[in-house]
Amino acid sequence: MKVTLIPVTPFQQNCSIVVCESTRRAVVVDPGGDIERITGEVERQGVSVEKILLTHGHLDHCGGAKALADHYGVKIEGPHRDDAFWIDQLPEQMQRFGFSGAQAFTPERWLEDGESVEFGDETFEVYHCPGHTPGHVIFFSRAHRVAFVGDVLFAGSIGRTDFPRGNHADLIRAIREKLWPLGDDVTFVPGHGPASTFGDERRTNPYVGDGVPA
Ligand SMILES: [Zn+2]
Ligand SMILES: [Zn+2]
Repeated sequence: MKVTLIPVTPFQQNCSIVVCESTRRAVVVDPGGDIERITGEVERQGVSVEKILLTHGHLDHCGGAKALADHYGVKIEGPHRDDAFWIDQLPEQMQRFGFSGAQAFTPERWLEDGESVEFGDETFEVYHCPGHTPGHVIFFSRAHRVAFVGDVLFAGSIGRTDFPRGNHADLIRAIREKLWPLGDDVTFVPGHGPASTFGDERRTNPYVGDGVPA
């Protein structure tokens, strides 16, 4: 499995192109915008996009999802249904931040905790991790020890919870009860900034490290 990060939008959101190397089939996780940069990289790698995956309903993560899905004629899977109210507000979010090309959409598949998503020969396990948004999900490759966690967890930080229906206690619980059990060796790609491992965050993260009171 090969992962290529493309920071998109003025928020420098980590859009990921994830390729199954045996089939050359790919998914795009969180195409927030700048879709010509994403399609350019897909073309350069000569891979075939099979679906689009979304961690949550924020503009910088899903603002380009509809345009990219239409471009490739593929489906959008995720996030959890509880983020529908965010996706419904996309056109307003876009206007507020001065983005153009607002396109509302409904994912072909809402995801639930415990489900999985397949592409090529690869499987991602899906975990519902509310707190930053109520319908946030993360994608985990057990075979390759990699997780795509959106804005749940960052290297040295955690997601904001001061949005409508954000909840700090839910976020901390999701990190400790859903992410940590996946293993200290797991590398995660956050929605913004550099990758890290769950083990490093358990040791050093000032918000949710092992020494920090719940
Ligand atoms: Zn977000
Ligand atoms: Zn974000």
